[in-house]
Amino acid sequence: MTAPASSDVIIIGGGIMGCSAAFFLRRRGLSVTLLESDLVGRQASGTNFGNVRRQGRPLYQLALANRAIAIWREIGMLLDCDVEYRQLGHMRVCYRTRPELAAAMEQYASDARHSDLDLEILSGNTLRARFPFLGKEVLAASFSPFCGHANPRLVSPAFARAAQRLGAVVHERCAVAETSKAGDDFLVVAADARQFRAPVLLISAGAWGDRFASAFGEPLPLSSRGPNMCVTEPLPYVLRPSIGVVTPNTEESVYIRQVERGNLVMGGSFYNPSYPDRFRVDVRPENSLSLWRQIQRLIPAVSRVGIIRTWSGIEGYLPDSAPVMGPSRTTSGLYYAFGFAGAGFQLGPGVGDAMAELIATGRTNIDLTPYRADRFGAA
Ligand SMILES: Cc1cc2nc3c(=O)[nH]c(=O)nc-3n(C[C@H](O)[C@H](O)[C@H](O)COP(=O)(O)OP(=O)(O)OC[C@H]3O[C@@H](n4cnc5c(N)ncnc54)[C@H](O)[C@@H]3O)c2cc1C
Repeated sequence: MTAPASSDVIIIGGGIMGCSAAFFLRRRGLSVTLLESDLVGRQASGTNFGNVRRQGRPLYQLALANRAIAIWREIGMLLDCDVEYRQLGHMRVCYRTRPELAAAMEQYASDARHSDLDLEILSGNTLRARFPFLGKEVLAASFSPFCGHANPRLVSPAFARAAQRLGAVVHERCAVAETSKAGDDFLVVAADARQFRAPVLLISAGAWGDRFASAFGEPLPLSSRGPNMCVTEPLPYVLRPSIGVVTPNTEESVYIRQVERGNLVMGGSFYNPSYPDRFRVDVRPENSLSLWRQIQRLIPAVSRVGIIRTWSGIEGYLPDSAPVMGPSRTTSGLYYAFGFAGAGFQLGPGVGDAMAELIATGRTNIDLTPYRADRFGAA
């Protein structure tokens, strides 16, 4: 029998978290093996909307989001690939039916200023003059000039390729079936019986991460959701920032951006049922229609445009919508970075960088307390 391939770190899961961690670990000189059951970026990291949005996050998460945005700003150079990150701003709007949300946006803008996030609150004529295409129902907006959007299909593969150029070993179509501790090392066995060994194991398996944590005595209440996405035929390129509706009502909660090729990408409203066991999510046509109706409230001028494709992806959610990130509480050498819910694409590069720092040096300047694996008790 062949001896297991060994490295300093094994990463399970090749989404944006795993691929960026592989890249930053290699930059710190550690040898890395990344195992991905399908193709890198095939799941949430490649199917998401592409928002690189900081505003609207809990304030404690802004340190991580800021670390990420610094990397986004130089990502093309860093990865030697244009991943279509454009820092064109991000805007949240609220409707006249919910004036209390305008006050909440103002409060958030004032609080976030202490965390290096400058937001401009717009309403009335100023808002209409800058964004004349917004529907009449829009009351106020919070504009973040230093956020943007990127092409999710490009980012994780670009991180994986850059990591490989630095010497990382990436195995695609390599589903991990079993993990165990063998002395000081972890032994990882793939479904096709390939074996890997390392003293450090990073679980970045998105909506599937809880299975691995459970195997090491840390069950987590992870559930999954499938946000609905649509893209239209191309139009003249006019919409620079991405725009989202702030509302407690799921049906109304939609977002839209335009890519330079002209297509409008939109998402939100009702979620699709997702089946992580089968790596499947069903796209329900009625959800696309609801999304489309809500987008017309936001930007009425789009009503005659044709939708050319709909899709969805699988997000992993913990009850407080925050991820698990940091060292395991039961097993030395084991680290987690999963459960990033609906806003992990923006965080991805910052998570990879912070996890690499933590693994290589034993410390990171990101406060990991809100992300501890034991915060739910014995789940
Ligand atoms: C439709 C949609 C829209 C979204 N929109 C945005 C947005 O606009 N902005 C934003 O910031 N976030 C958004 N998100 C959230 C964001 O995409 C996720 O939080 C982020 O991509 C999670 O990355 P990840 O690497 O943790 O997970 P994933 O990308 O899911 O990667 C996990 C990987 O683990 C692999 N894996 C699972 N089991 C195994 C196994 N046994 N062996 C080996 N590999 C395994 C999977 O195949 C997968 O590739 C959206 C998500 C979805 C689904």
